[in-house]
Amino acid sequence: MIFGFFRFLLLALLLFAGWTMLKVLFRIFGFFLQVRRAVRNAGGAAPARDKGSRNVEEMAQDPNCGSYVSTSHSVSGNFRGGTVYFCSQKCLDEYRLKIG
Ligand SMILES: [Zn+2]
Repeated sequence: MIFGFFRFLLLALLLFAGWTMLKVLFRIFGFFLQVRRAVRNAGGAAPARDKGSRNVEEMAQDPNCGSYVSTSHSVSGNFRGGTVYFCSQKCLDEYRLKIG
């Protein structure tokens, strides 16, 4: 009877020790995660946002030659359908002549 109680006590002690170690491990793991997140926020946030905005840049098709141009780096003209984008002034002039 007494031995059984001792065994139970030993088991409880082992469980407590194991649980405490696990808690410490989790705390260390959480700390590492926080550090990694902080490093990522400090280091990589600004360039990533810059790259993202560049990817969002709108593309439009030049109706005269059929090539695709970015709307911010192209020649644009207003026609009946709205704003139309061209790769060059030459294409804009040709398109204007075409549609009369
Ligand atoms: Zn063109």
